[in-house]
Amino acid sequence: HPMGLSDTDLLRTKGVIGGAWVGADAGGLLDVRNPATGVLLAQVPMMGAAETGRAIDAAAAALPSWRVLTAQERAKLLMGWHDLMLDAADDLALLLTLEQGKSLAEAKGEIIYGASFIRWFAEEARRSYGDVIPTHKRGSRLITIKQPVGVVGAITPWNFPNAMITRKLGPALAAGCTVVLKPAEATPLSALALAVLAERAGIPAGVINIVTGDPVAIGGALTASPVVRKISFTGSTRVGRLLMAQSAPTVKRLSLELGGNAPFIVFDDADLGPAVAGAMASKYRNSGQTCVCANRLFVEDGIHDAFVAKLTEEVGKLKVGNGCDLGVNQGPLINKAAVEKVEELVADALEKGATLVTGGKRHELGGCFYEPTILTGITGDMRIAHEEIFGPVAAIQRFRGEEEVLRLANDTEFGLAAYFYSRDLGRIWRVAEGLESGMVGVNEGLISTEIAPFGGVKQSGLGREGSSLGLDEYLEVKYISMAVG
Ligand code: ADP
Repeated sequence: HPMGLSDTDLLRTKGVIGGAWVGADAGGLLDVRNPATGVLLAQVPMMGAAETGRAIDAAAAALPSWRVLTAQERAKLLMGWHDLMLDAADDLALLLTLEQGKSLAEAKGEIIYGASFIRWFAEEARRSYGDVIPTHKRGSRLITIKQPVGVVGAITPWNFPNAMITRKLGPALAAGCTVVLKPAEATPLSALALAVLAERAGIPAGVINIVTGDPVAIGGALTASPVVRKISFTGSTRVGRLLMAQSAPTVKRLSLELGGNAPFIVFDDADLGPAVAGAMASKYRNSGQTCVCANRLFVEDGIHDAFVAKLTEEVGKLKVGNGCDLGVNQGPLINKAAVEKVEELVADALEKGATLVTGGKRHELGGCFYEPTILTGITGDMRIAHEEIFGPVAAIQRFRGEEEVLRLANDTEFGLAAYFYSRDLGRIWRVAEGLESGMVGVNEGLISTEIAPFGGVKQSGLGREGSSLGLDEYLEVKYISMAVG
């Protein structure tokens, strides 16, 4: 097989509506290219509002028989899906690297991480207890039960083509909801492969529907439909705001995981080695294309030069290239527009007085490759201090004192992840509580796990994914008051 998949059936080029693999009504196609080589990998249907409408109907038709299953029955099907994902991990990782660019090792890690959400929520669904409330009047009994929200519209990004889907479909399906999924244009193949495995696992037709194609038309149809009771979205703050506005007329439930501008703070009393290791992981993972990537590095005066020197040494060891090649840990950016955005941010920073320590330009490999970069002397008037970089650029600001850095760190409309390094217990509590973010890594650069709540405050979003809280996003609480005489 030209792609090297051992199970070639995992490569699908049709959408899924009510269990049928279908093309676009008008026959239009969307190109899926390998960002490392520019090679055309496949074409998937360019679907729009009409196909989305039928997918919503299919999800609504599947809902009654899916929601009445016991949590244990659904969990059994989900665990089957989970096991098939792990069995197919090498193929799923390869497909992911081919369409997204990250290294095979990172892709494999994502498949395992992605599968973990299915297992976790299969387990959690069996514990979605209601309450018996001690009554306020004799002869009356008060209870609550939890019920699935209904049909869910899920819209996912390209930076984690597998895990951003399982993080939504795991809790949605476990709760008893059915789904219409729109994967990102750049990475539909990972989504379609998951649907193949769901079908093999015996998850009934119509429970997972996938429409590929025009984001505006599909998003418009999902939000306009009164049948769709919830939108779960991961992507930019711009599109999140739009979906929120579009969901207002039908008052939908919303889970939004939006942009970030994570501060990564290194205090003078930090251990240098772990701080640099954490910065490398947080900044350069997925070539800087995650919403929790360190976006602004604040390094205190006394440790600044030593930190920059050691970080530069580590960045020098990164290997840029095609994610399929052995030893590569820095793949390409997702597309030309991403490279241009990084270029613009770096040019703006240099123009306004930043210092280039290493990198700072397109990689000699050409295409979508950009050199791992370090800039120092970043100041608040530079765009890079306020905008999500989504590329392999460490933007470092020097600071003095806790008060100053908290003010700087919170000076953003975003509030997703934040990180800091210190060994002072009092400071650790003060700063962890003072940072305006949904997640804080203390002496840690990687914090994502299915067992902990992932999500943001401020304009980074609404709701939490993963953890015991993640299931509630797909459940309604019903209060039942009974007069029992
Ligand atoms: P990114 O900048 O990471 O690509 P986007 O927010 O543009 O983030 O994309 C995330 C997801 O949102 C993708 O699946 C994309 O197709 C989808 N999307 C983009 N624009 C819209 C829209 N107007 N309505 C609904 N979905 C959209």
